[in-house]
Amino acid sequence: MLNAEIIKQKAREFGAAAVGIADIACFDGVAPQRDPKMVLPNARCVIGCAFRVPRALYRAMAEKRQFYQYAQTGVKYIDEDLSVLFLLKLGAIIENAGYDACLQRNVSNLKIKGDHTTNPEVSDTYELVHAEAVAPGKPTPEIILDFNFAAQMCGIGAVGRAGHLIAPKLGPFLRLVFIITDAPLECDQPFEGTLCDNCGACAAACPGNAIGENGVDSWQCAAYYRGAHRSNPFLEEDFLKDHPRREAILNGTEKFNRESARALYPELDFLPSRPTGYIPCICGKACAVACYRHLKEKGLL
Ligand code: SF4
Ligand code: SF4
Repeated sequence: MLNAEIIKQKAREFGAAAVGIADIACFDGVAPQRDPKMVLPNARCVIGCAFRVPRALYRAMAEKRQFYQYAQTGVKYIDEDLSVLFLLKLGAIIENAGYDACLQRNVSNLKIKGDHTTNPEVSDTYELVHAEAVAPGKPTPEIILDFNFAAQMCGIGAVGRAGHLIAPKLGPFLRLVFIITDAPLECDQPFEGTLCDNCGACAAACPGNAIGENGVDSWQCAAYYRGAHRSNPFLEEDFLKDHPRREAILNGTEKFNRESARALYPELDFLPSRPTGYIPCICGKACAVACYRHLKEKGLL
């Protein structure tokens, strides 16, 4: 008979570095567009799994030796290939046992109506501003789980100031997937607290000053993730040469919003992104690297 132990064993066998299961009651009160019960009304639990993103991909960026591999291998292929194959295999085990398995991989380029943020990892994001509920009491599609919250409910970790989920042993170098299911599995307790101690190392490391006291400004991040900063090794002398805000932009003191960040995107074209739609991370994820080092020094990883 299917149980939590079998699911966890299979998840690890298929490549998960961490796995936890959240009771569906943990999602009571969340917004309908984030609610797993709106995807599967008879859901009993949510299975959460984390994949490790290899540390050396971050190190190669930090040392300015290689940037393309992280965006491709560490982001796109984990989210689009490893995640999907993993979910299909784990989901088949659940469905073979007679239960439903609603597979949830990272939705990189869609934002629910009302979410005005962006995802710096992809060429652009689209907010579903025109979507409407089909009837009163129904959610406005598309329903997209809050992955960080769901992972916390699964007991995997908790989000830090830099906006990344931080998990014991893995730190911030991970990607997430979920399965919403009606299988009656034994659930874990939500992760209590957070490993983030608000040290500020992530904010200090960001070349675009995208991290404030209350978290990350995603549009600010989007401009600097793409390399609008002076430490970008691909910069040429004539970059933004006639732009009136050139110095402020390069110094990371310019403040970007949705319009101004998007307006600059065509200038921030340092490595190919069109074949895949994933943007090479020219900031080197300095925030996550600083966080990892800090947590390592504290003996938490
Ligand atoms: S670097 Fe420090 S403040 Fe930033 S997320 Fe990590 S622990 Fe939190
Ligand atoms: S270091 Fe990079 S990924 Fe992190 S907040 Fe700054 S621009 Fe964004």
